[in-house]
Amino acid sequence: MSMLRILVATHNPGKMREFRQLLAPLGDGVCFPPDLGLFVEVQEDGQTYADNARKKALAYVQTGLLVLADDSGLEVDALGGAPGIHSARYVQGSDADRVAALLARVRDVPWERRTARFRCVIVIATPELELYTVEGVCEGYIAWEPAGEGGFGYDPVFYLPEYGCTMAQLPPEEKNRISHRARAVQSAIPVLERLLACRG
Ligand code: IMP
Repeated sequence: MSMLRILVATHNPGKMREFRQLLAPLGDGVCFPPDLGLFVEVQEDGQTYADNARKKALAYVQTGLLVLADDSGLEVDALGGAPGIHSARYVQGSDADRVAALLARVRDVPWERRTARFRCVIVIATPELELYTVEGVCEGYIAWEPAGEGGFGYDPVFYLPEYGCTMAQLPPEEKNRISHRARAVQSAIPVLERLLACRG
């Protein structure tokens, strides 16, 4: 049986799928709260992505494992950076409801002002309560209408000009090469490798 070494503090199925692939270079010791029968309620009431990611990381570190937690969101320039840290709870309902609400709020915004970015902040916590923070960003535009079936959340309306399609239209491997989460994980992997090496 492989040894569990890194707990990724998320229950979001879309994020779990992506983290599983993104953290594959670290071997098969990566697990998620449902794998351990864990559920810790965390109030995501921080002022920043880093505050929320830190809260999630510290909530799960009593397991004795290295913990990786992320907080992420979509920042739309024409909305002053909203929904930002409130992306998951922008409006009640489904991802499709939140996408519809966002599109309604930018309905009259012309293309050149529909700039936006996904941001992901990852906090790594050790059982000794050392904390490491890294960040990744992916720039794009808010599309006129949803397109694509892949990904999750706001992916169907996040248009990538260099690909000529939305994030939801990219193959998963491609999203996992260029996304905000992929970029944050690229910075997190050397930190995790060093911490794992210290632990034997
Ligand atoms: P949280 O990090 O769990 O607070 O949730 C972040 C929210 O931001 C998600 O529920 C999505 O609505 C949005 N989000 C974060 N990353 C992505 C992504 O890769 N694609 C689409 N939406 C995302």
